Amino acid sequence: MGVAPPRPTVGVLALQGAFSNHLSVLAELGVVGRAVRRPDDLEGIDALILPGGESTTMSMLLDSSELRAPLTDLLDRDLPVLGTCAGLILLSSRVDDGRDDQRGFGRLDLRTARNAYGRQNESFESRVELADGRSIPGIFIRAPRIVEVGPEVEVLGALDGVPVLIRQGNAIGCAFHPELTGDATVHRLLIDRIGRSLTTVSDASQED
Ligand code: GLN
Repeated sequence: MGVAPPRPTVGVLALQGAFSNHLSVLAELGVVGRAVRRPDDLEGIDALILPGGESTTMSMLLDSSELRAPLTDLLDRDLPVLGTCAGLILLSSRVDDGRDDQRGFGRLDLRTARNAYGRQNESFESRVELADGRSIPGIFIRAPRIVEVGPEVEVLGALDGVPVLIRQGNAIGCAFHPELTGDATVHRLLIDRIGRSLTTVSDASQED
């Protein structure tokens, strides 16, 4: 009998916003979820989730928590990352209607418009059409709209023809809240990226 391989650990940035349901989804998927509040919490994580919430506040808290530099370093080393809603904004290279002092990680070659799907009371649920022909539920809460995608960005899901789920290498972005729907498709996309280091092995050679 072999020894069971260690379960992967996925960090969830827990400075502010909608992090707790992500931890529940990870537990259901059999991976270890860890709330990340301080640099020490990053030790040994295999992937990271930047949750929904308020990207301007998260940007400030990334500095006061001293998480910005170690997170940047991990992303430089191709740590798989999923940014949902405010997290998508933090991963986008260009942000419309951001605050001047708001700073993200610029890992996705996108232009993203904050709050472009409307205010909190215009939140809605809709099916997201996936590239493979399936659809999954999406809950949109003051969601950012992806208005431009760069050539390296793969569109994995769309709403009315507008990308809402995308991937560029090990970075996945999603405009909606996948942790509230009971469908773990988006979280599985992240877990599938674990162990795929783009700097050491060509991405294409690992696709199955
Ligand atoms: N509008 C928020 C922001 O700019 C994001 C909303 C969300 O994460 N549900 O950060």
